[in-house]
Amino acid sequence: MTSPNFDIIIIGTGPAGLGAAFHLIEHSPSLAVLMIDREKICSGGLLNDCKQNYTYPIGFAAENWTMEEAGRLLPEVEKWLQPVFKEKQNLDVYRRRAERLGVTLLDVRQAHVGTDRSRALIQRLRDELAFRKVQFLMEREVTDVFDDAGGTGVVISGTERVIGRKVIVAPGRKGFSFLQQVMEKMGIAFVDNVVDVGIRVETTLANYPIVKDYYDPKFLFPDGVRTFCTNSGHARVVLERYQGFSLVNGHALSEQQAGNNLVNFALLKTIGLRDPVRSGQQMAVFLARLANEIGGGMPLMQRVGDFRMGKRSTAENFNEDLYAFPPSCHVTTGDLGMAVPAKIMRHIWGALKKLDTIVPGILHPSTIMYYPEIKMYANKPTFLDRHFRVRANVYMIGDGAGTSRGITGAWASGIRAAEGVLKKI
Ligand SMILES: Cc1cc2nc3c(=O)[nH]c(=O)nc-3n(C[C@H](O)[C@H](O)[C@H](O)COP(=O)(O)OP(=O)(O)OC[C@H]3O[C@@H](n4cnc5c(N)ncnc54)[C@H](O)[C@@H]3O)c2cc1C
Repeated sequence: MTSPNFDIIIIGTGPAGLGAAFHLIEHSPSLAVLMIDREKICSGGLLNDCKQNYTYPIGFAAENWTMEEAGRLLPEVEKWLQPVFKEKQNLDVYRRRAERLGVTLLDVRQAHVGTDRSRALIQRLRDELAFRKVQFLMEREVTDVFDDAGGTGVVISGTERVIGRKVIVAPGRKGFSFLQQVMEKMGIAFVDNVVDVGIRVETTLANYPIVKDYYDPKFLFPDGVRTFCTNSGHARVVLERYQGFSLVNGHALSEQQAGNNLVNFALLKTIGLRDPVRSGQQMAVFLARLANEIGGGMPLMQRVGDFRMGKRSTAENFNEDLYAFPPSCHVTTGDLGMAVPAKIMRHIWGALKKLDTIVPGILHPSTIMYYPEIKMYANKPTFLDRHFRVRANVYMIGDGAGTSRGITGAWASGIRAAEGVLKKI
């Protein structure tokens, strides 16, 4: 067996990987830790927008967490990320309106960095780790993970083997397929039976003024629909490109930047699949491809006014005076009814009508609905212990492994894996 080059190899420099690295090095400074990422800078929500939620269950995958466990680790997440919390006002008014409709408004401690300032935060975190002798290999793709009689480690770019004592795999949602491929090869049982499908709503600040009182209001509607990732100030809808299709997402710049008076947020419906259909990933890809097919290779967008009248939006509808603002993301004008499964659309539209009663204005005819916004974080490996260990020396964490659904939950997952590694090493 070759002797290890590193004590711990971490795949992914997103919040899950960083959470693990900080905990390891704080509690055992002499450990040799290597972090590898295929990008120049980590590519998830730490870089894009960087809203941080510090209240359970936001950002946590409930099947792997308890409120106590999250509450124990969130102060450590806070210590390294140093959030500046947002003030909230008038919550009681919105909450009373919501309760009458059977809707819950969660009170969440939130901080927002903004896409223009997130690089500085990431650089500070990287510098602190480098100061503690953590090594980084950036723009290098891990193509395999092994843990057998020959040792434990990773393969980079298909050829270069790096040996470690433990490997923490934290490749995020974009590493979903890589993770599945590793699990299949290693014989790690997993299910992938949940997927969140929905739309991104974009409107003016005047039509959704609640964001002045509560930056990212978390509403839970009946039928498994919820608001997610609200952005305002200088907010934009963006494309998330995958192989063969694009999804939509959203982000905002920091408060230091001049606003564009727009707001966007996702309305997502959680779908649990049962036998014989079990792959959330496959369902997501199928739905995304259908929408992109209808949109000529792009997602779709439709004005609420057109949707209500049952007619497709056209380029002209995005110029007329009633439709006062241009879309921040130019995708294909069309008819969501052609692409969104009927039940999903019905539940999302029902939630929007309730939201319009809680915050009157959101269903203004000019409001834009973009589709598809889909979250494929439903890999659920069979964990061998509460530290997300999947093999003798391999741990899987973060959004890709279904242990989190946001920055803080991912970071906390990293701490939990690190705690497991420290017990064993
Ligand atoms: C546009 C966007 C905006 C978001 N905004 C927010 C937000 O404001 N607040 C929030 O809480 N959450 C947000 N999220 C979700 C958030 O990104 C995730 O919950 C969080 O980043 C998950 O952390 P992670 O460490 O598991 O994965 P990631 O942050 O995705 O990090 C995984 C890293 O692994 C690397 N990687 C993947 N595969 C390989 C490989 N084979 N070899 C080497 N490296 C690899 C990737 O390049 C990536 O840097 C957003 C997501 C997106 C896409």
